[in-house]
Amino acid sequence: MATETQLVVVGAGPGGYAAAFYAADLGMQVTLVDLEKNPGGTCLYRGCIPSKAYLHVAKLINEVKHSENWGVKFSEPELDIDKIRAYKEGVVEKLTTGNGGLVKQRKINYLQGKGTFVNSTTLKVELVEGGEEEVKFEKAIIATGSSPAKIPGLTIDSPRVMNSDGALELENIPEKLLVVGGGIIGFEMASVYSTFGSKVTVVELLPQVLTGADKDLARIITGEMKNRGLEIYTDTKVAGIKEVEGGIEATLEGKKVEEPVQVFDKVLVSIGRTPNTANLGLENTSVKVDEKGFVVANKKQETDDPNIFAIGDVVGQPMLAHKAHAEGRVAVDNINGDSKEFNPKTIPSVLYTDPELAWAGLTELEAKAEKRKVAVQRVPWASNGRSQAQDRIDGSTKLIIDPETEDILGVGIAGMGAGEMVAEVALAIEQGLKAKDIAHLIHAHPTVSETVMEAAEMFYGTATHIYRPKRK
Ligand code: FAD
Repeated sequence: MATETQLVVVGAGPGGYAAAFYAADLGMQVTLVDLEKNPGGTCLYRGCIPSKAYLHVAKLINEVKHSENWGVKFSEPELDIDKIRAYKEGVVEKLTTGNGGLVKQRKINYLQGKGTFVNSTTLKVELVEGGEEEVKFEKAIIATGSSPAKIPGLTIDSPRVMNSDGALELENIPEKLLVVGGGIIGFEMASVYSTFGSKVTVVELLPQVLTGADKDLARIITGEMKNRGLEIYTDTKVAGIKEVEGGIEATLEGKKVEEPVQVFDKVLVSIGRTPNTANLGLENTSVKVDEKGFVVANKKQETDDPNIFAIGDVVGQPMLAHKAHAEGRVAVDNINGDSKEFNPKTIPSVLYTDPELAWAGLTELEAKAEKRKVAVQRVPWASNGRSQAQDRIDGSTKLIIDPETEDILGVGIAGMGAGEMVAEVALAIEQGLKAKDIAHLIHAHPTVSETVMEAAEMFYGTATHIYRPKRK
């Protein structure tokens, strides 16, 4: 079979399907190729969404533990992991079949199969149902995403050793779980398993978990996790793991480790992700990949092949769904004859544990590294009416402001719902707004978002609920 198409998008993750949908909305004739039955990619099938379904359940369990303080007593939660897994699968099914419906409404030609470039105008698709289809295209977008990284010595072939895909299967709740890697994915899964009953140890090679986030905010999260029984070792290396009877023996090397050799029921290796560029036939095109396997693309998402663009995880960090989505739109605009660059001032990051951690723009850490003079305004949530009413004062909102221009440069928020709150400040950063713009915006009362307004007011020494005279 042979098809001719204006645009073929290889990979239907949040980058690929968003690009395909947008291109169809602009009137292009589009073919979208993916191995799954419906668009969704890592994010919907094995990433953002399934992890958030579990984190939602975990949050409920943790919330209920405090309810006695409010005069409501629940009995100990009983977990039915088959039903929890089914809940997660139901969420994934609803969203991915919804996307399948949107493909049909937009009259996109969806091919379920594996795409390989034959040359700069032809993609061969090995169809999942059998057979092959040749797609002749004018332009192509590579959006094949990434897969969990493997490390020799840590990625051993054992059912007890999982990557994030395996962890999301929630086969059982291991008594003792070792999480190798204290990044966002490792930390979210650690939080889920620990709430579901595992004794979890997180080991991070770097001096800090959740790198990228400011230490004071990250500490709010790690402090709460430790209260719930999580053990966290930073500056510590998992030197090796091996299967022994009844578990996985891990050797931990770090100054603070008291028991260097421990046996765990399961191990989650979460040490990053590698781009899906192998066996894509890129050697048959002019597309270049770097030494780590990422497709080389410029700010217009153009590769070295004039017909082929690339977006999302496959072109590099930050590996985030919303970054993939935004790059997809840039690629399509350029294919459509515009001249656009992917040049955002900020891409927000969110850790969806409870409490959450969110940041955007310049962090205090980065400001210090750049020796940049900034005014940092922190509002503890204890000063906020809604936080008190919800018995969730375990949060902090921080604005980073340029003291001369009053520009909002960055935001960091730790606390329940931080991920939803960060959008307001991300908009301010992107639009070059000043502290007074946020201070003057009427925020609904009582909301936790008032802490953002008060942080901006604090810059002028006029925050209502915190007395902090203006800095001289
Ligand atoms: P992907 O989503 O990886 O999609 C690529 C698609 O291409 C896949 O469906 C794949 O099957 C397909 N494909 C690959 N090769 C071929 C081929 N040859 N032919 C056809 N199809 C092919 N990001 C966030 O922003 N927020 C989060 O909360 C978040 N949580 C995460 C939690 C976990 C556990 C994980 C693993 C990731 C998480 N991420 C999160 C990251 C996010 O999932 C990725 O950044 C995002 O999915 C990247 O989108 P993409 O379109 O580039 O690629």
